[in-house]
Amino acid sequence: MRNNLIPQKIGIFIWRVVKGRIAVKTELEKRGIVLDTLLCPMCNNVPESIDHAILSCKTAQEVWEGIHKWWKINLPSHITLEELLGGSNYVNFSGKISKIWQAITWSASYIIWKNRNQKVFKNDSWSSSKIICEVQVKTYEWISNRSRNIHKDWLHWLLDPINLGFPDINNRDPG
Ligand SMILES: [Zn+2]
Repeated sequence: MRNNLIPQKIGIFIWRVVKGRIAVKTELEKRGIVLDTLLCPMCNNVPESIDHAILSCKTAQEVWEGIHKWWKINLPSHITLEELLGGSNYVNFSGKISKIWQAITWSASYIIWKNRNQKVFKNDSWSSSKIICEVQVKTYEWISNRSRNIHKDWLHWLLDPINLGFPDINNRDPG
């Protein structure tokens, strides 16, 4: 899985998510590892599957709502993780915008998972608004660093990422 607007490690992480190869508790159990509990370490409510950890756990869900609100699009209530990571199918973006949106959803998944690990290994985690802010900061930094000769405006990125965040990317031909 590749998106050259963000670090390669994120594409690798997404590939592992899609292949069921991240170490959520239900996957560890399938591999014969004995655990005290299968419950999600973030909410302690339900067994931790990949879908739950990245998409439907309360904090993750709040992050996805916030990210969609930032981009002024609706988060469908029954969206699957596959649809979310696939990008443009439900959002109707094309060309560069669709690539930027994919970079956002992949980065958000990665940061949601990092936050989950922070909770497991250091008993420390962020609020959903802190995670959303981290997604905005990191994607701005990553995309800026990987796109030469474009006008960059942090405030526009926050206020109207589709039209104003990276106008030179927006104006290029799709592809
Ligand atoms: Zn949970």
